[in-house]
Amino acid sequence: MFFYPVHLTYPVREECSMTIAPHAPVTVCSSNQYTMTILPFSGLRRYGARNTGFIPGEKEAAFFSAAQQHPLACVDGKLKLPLTFPQEDCYLCELFVNGKSAEKFEIYALESDLFCLQPYKGDNHLHSWMSDGKDSPMYMVAAACRRGYDYCAITDHRYFEPSLIAKDFYENTGVDFLVIPGEEVHSPQNRVHIINLGGEESVNDWWRNHEPEYRAAVQKELENMHEPMSDADRYSAAASQVIFDKIRSVNGVSILCHPCWIRPYGFSETEDVTDYLFDHKRFDALELIAGGAYEMGTQMQLSYYHERESMPVLGNSDAHACFGDKLEPGNYTILFASDLTVDALKDAICNKMTVAGNEKKLYGDYRLVKYAYFLMRNFYPEHSRQRDVLGANMIRYASSLGEADADLTSVKPSTLFAQLRYSD
Ligand SMILES: [Zn+2]
Ligand SMILES: [Zn+2]
Repeated sequence: MFFYPVHLTYPVREECSMTIAPHAPVTVCSSNQYTMTILPFSGLRRYGARNTGFIPGEKEAAFFSAAQQHPLACVDGKLKLPLTFPQEDCYLCELFVNGKSAEKFEIYALESDLFCLQPYKGDNHLHSWMSDGKDSPMYMVAAACRRGYDYCAITDHRYFEPSLIAKDFYENTGVDFLVIPGEEVHSPQNRVHIINLGGEESVNDWWRNHEPEYRAAVQKELENMHEPMSDADRYSAAASQVIFDKIRSVNGVSILCHPCWIRPYGFSETEDVTDYLFDHKRFDALELIAGGAYEMGTQMQLSYYHERESMPVLGNSDAHACFGDKLEPGNYTILFASDLTVDALKDAICNKMTVAGNEKKLYGDYRLVKYAYFLMRNFYPEHSRQRDVLGANMIRYASSLGEADADLTSVKPSTLFAQLRYSD
């Protein structure tokens, strides 16, 4: 790379000034002629733009064509090009020095709703040794950072406490990593796995300490269920609906986990229960891809999802250790959120601003997946390198239970996020 765009994302239909900087030791020399072509990845959209209030004409067609070499101005050792992007898209830029191709790079223009959000990467489903995992909650958090994530949730079976321990441990360190409180809820006579993400209270504690109240709520739910189902399935389905509602009442996001999880005896939960929960949808998000060892289950979940209405989808590892098979496909979630806070991330999920993915495959709404692939090529490689450094320091800090003078504040991915978004 000899030259790079200072910002990667721009707002559409607003006058911008794209800045291109040289990588040292290359410098911009005013005796050179710098020109650039810029092409929309998806072709100039007219039919596709008919609902945006602006349909590009001949002027835009000429501007965004391979034939149009735009002269760049040299300002303070950098190159500048004023322009207005007509559509949300990836744009392919080629820079020429004295007529010779010198650099190719991509940038992205976004509609205002997405331009004002940042893409935070994370894992919403992790276990520690405080349920059936192998490592401490603090280690699991540090490992998530090393994997290139901005946030994670510890979601131990039946316990909310481990997530709070992890959160408190890093709370005053100034580390640029968010721990979301969470738990995997397993209420009595319910085989369905459900996550309470970001709730203000434990839902496991609720059913444990108020079982008659839980039983009464399920009973009330059962009275309105007349579909043909076995008694066990009916109870599981009713109990799940009660738990989804309870999670919402403590301001959590409810996640239906791995519905096609395959056990030696078949599906962990029956298809009747899964069908019922999708037909009477009260959960907030679907864990679309999770775990490593269940490729068949994952593919069946994907097929199931494709037959249904679009909904918020998440990718998680469901890892029970810092190393191991469940981490292998590297399943994660990208949440497009206003900032890195629990509330903003919960909003992102409920507004369906999510992409579920791993190193190769991304799932979700077309628009977000298209943008996420751009980020995968142009943003996440450097982001992951920085997170890896920070995560290694977090592991040192966690291994000494906070005693090590590990550097948790010098790596600030927020700087990288600021560079991602255009500002003049
Ligand atoms: Zn589970
Ligand atoms: Zn789990």
